[in-house]
Amino acid sequence: MAGAAVAFSLAQRGWQVLVLEAAQALGAGASGLPVGLAAPHVSPDDNVLSRITRAGVQATLERAKTLTQAGSLNTQDWGLTGVLEHRIKGKRELPSGKALPQAQDSWSINASAEQVAAAGLPHCSPALWHSQAAWLRPRRLVQAQLAAPGITLRLSCPVQRISHNHEGWALWDAQGTLITQVPELVLASAFDTAALLQGLVDSEAGALLRFPLNPLRGQISFGRMDALPSATLDRLPPFPVNGHGSFISGVAAPFDEIGHWFIGSTFERDCNQAPVRAEDHAANQTRLNTLLPPLAEGMAPGFAPEHIQGWAGLRCTLPDRLPAVGLIDPLRWPGLHLSTGMGARGISLSVLCGEIIATGLEGQAHPLPPELAKHLAAQRFVKAPKPGLSPKFTG
Ligand SMILES: Cc1cc2nc3c(=O)[nH]c(=O)nc-3n(C[C@H](O)[C@H](O)[C@H](O)COP(=O)(O)OP(=O)(O)OC[C@H]3O[C@@H](n4cnc5c(N)ncnc54)[C@H](O)[C@@H]3O)c2cc1C
Repeated sequence: MAGAAVAFSLAQRGWQVLVLEAAQALGAGASGLPVGLAAPHVSPDDNVLSRITRAGVQATLERAKTLTQAGSLNTQDWGLTGVLEHRIKGKRELPSGKALPQAQDSWSINASAEQVAAAGLPHCSPALWHSQAAWLRPRRLVQAQLAAPGITLRLSCPVQRISHNHEGWALWDAQGTLITQVPELVLASAFDTAALLQGLVDSEAGALLRFPLNPLRGQISFGRMDALPSATLDRLPPFPVNGHGSFISGVAAPFDEIGHWFIGSTFERDCNQAPVRAEDHAANQTRLNTLLPPLAEGMAPGFAPEHIQGWAGLRCTLPDRLPAVGLIDPLRWPGLHLSTGMGARGISLSVLCGEIIATGLEGQAHPLPPELAKHLAAQRFVKAPKPGLSPKFTG
């Protein structure tokens, strides 16, 4: 998502963009997620994450509207259905007083009794209604963005190493063969970005640049709608519900066009593999029972071993839970940009991050005000070099 989004933003501005993808097909990483949510984040003080996420969701929805097919049918790419957030244990209070953002009502309000009832939750359950929120099949948006004129996609092209010289950036494969040479390079390779950066500085400056990217494994459990009892089908919420993971139903899985339901996701630190695990299905069932207690019994048959399916991936996170975007260090490494660390919000943030890089390269206004922009800047993780250790760039 991060790579496709920045490629599209640049191509729209007339750039020729070459996208190098290690895998044989799109969606090899976390963006292979079958379906996810673009939804605002709410905090009582309307914190930085809440404000950045709203800007991100807005950018994603605009791009999805332009490039993909909306609707609530199985075969569509995304649906601007709105999302109900169940405020489990009273979490996620709306901001009030001075913290209340302008036009709050167009984003998030307390859910009405009708919306709570439609979700199947007991009367008076605390809940929010996010009207500018959607489910989206990430691979569809990735494909649509990469289909734009000006973008060339090269699959099965893993980059092993990068180096800088007077002509820009050289990209090398595992055999030491030059893949290409480019004036501007955007690393949007999620967790693997750290290895590319580390290699660069190790060989050229004698000091390792340890970019603090961490993997955070997650699993989604899902099943076919037609394997559920008809009484359960009648009671499924007509929109996604989040607040303790998220539940989405009536959306096609990536490999067929049949309606499925989805519940996710687990969070597992310090794991850089993404197998699907039976115990994670059990954890997701418990999650669903907490999120939507009245569905617990009716959904149980869907978790039977013969019906349940799973998808797992690695989120790529940074310590402050925000992405790293833009030039890393324009003096030491001119032309080297990052768009990584999307964490659990790549659908909501990747398009905004792509726009940040493209507007920067074009000298256009940053999409965010400075007080928010600084929280995303890739430069926030780079320390100034020690005197006498300034890097020597070699060809
Ligand atoms: C279970 C789960 C549920 C989630 N739910 C949501 C959700 O509801 N909403 C939301 O917003 N987000 C969600 N996310 C997060 C979202 O999926 C990620 O934030 C997003 O997909 C990250 O996109 P990316 O492009 O940064 O990384 P990736 O999709 O991982 O892409 C990185 C790409 O780089 C390629 N690559 C790596 N190294 C190299 C190399 N050396 N050379 C060439 N190519 C390379 C990889 O093959 C890969 O295709 C979820 C994630 C998980 C795991």
